[in-house]
Amino acid sequence: MDIPIRELIDAISVQLQQHAEELTDLDRAIGDGDHGINMARGWNAVVAARAEIASLPPGAALEKIGMTLVMNVGGASGPLFGSLFMGLGKHLGDNPGFAEFRNALRAGIELVQQRGRSTAGEKTMLDVFVPLVEMLETFDPGGGTKTVEEIITTARCGMESTQAMLATKGRAAFLGERSLGHVDPGAMSSYLIIETVCNVIIRNLARQESS
Ligand code: ADP
Ligand code: MG
Repeated sequence: MDIPIRELIDAISVQLQQHAEELTDLDRAIGDGDHGINMARGWNAVVAARAEIASLPPGAALEKIGMTLVMNVGGASGPLFGSLFMGLGKHLGDNPGFAEFRNALRAGIELVQQRGRSTAGEKTMLDVFVPLVEMLETFDPGGGTKTVEEIITTARCGMESTQAMLATKGRAAFLGERSLGHVDPGAMSSYLIIETVCNVIIRNLARQESS
């Protein structure tokens, strides 16, 4: 599987900049109102290191993205998204197929759980990633565009599910019951990243089919 790393970095960065205000508003409701800025800052730094990242093998490229996020994002989300990408990269290998990618994603998520001492159901980014990796267990990678859209739907459901959850981790946990009724900002940015990656995959599938 060829990973279009430059295209992915640019697309994720644009998507997060476009939603920075919305992410910040969500974080203003249940946190400290910096999540949009944190994500934009982190991915700006990834864009700045893009040439170097794209010259690396896939695993090392993802690890470098993770390190760049850790180094450039002050909030909790920097080390957590950083762990996700570093874990993913470390376990990806140099010639990954779908199964390698799924297993590496699971490893990345486990690293987030260790670092955050958190699990699904606590109103965090994990409520997007944990259901996603579970659905990938039975996913048919040969199914084309339609099945990639199922990934987007799973991620969206995960993000939306945080609205009815009580936060027990991160800043939102200080709000107790008042965290109910709001989507978690980190779950929203996780959804935006997954949606963007899927749309890049769909575009590449379409290009392959037309060539
Ligand atoms: P901060 O909370 O330091 O201001 P951000 O606002 O950038 O950092 O990120 C907040 C997001 O980080 C939350 O919406 C949540 O999804 C995620 N998060 C916070 N703590 C944890 C944790 N312990 N485990 C998993 N995700 C977490
Ligand atoms: Mg915040």
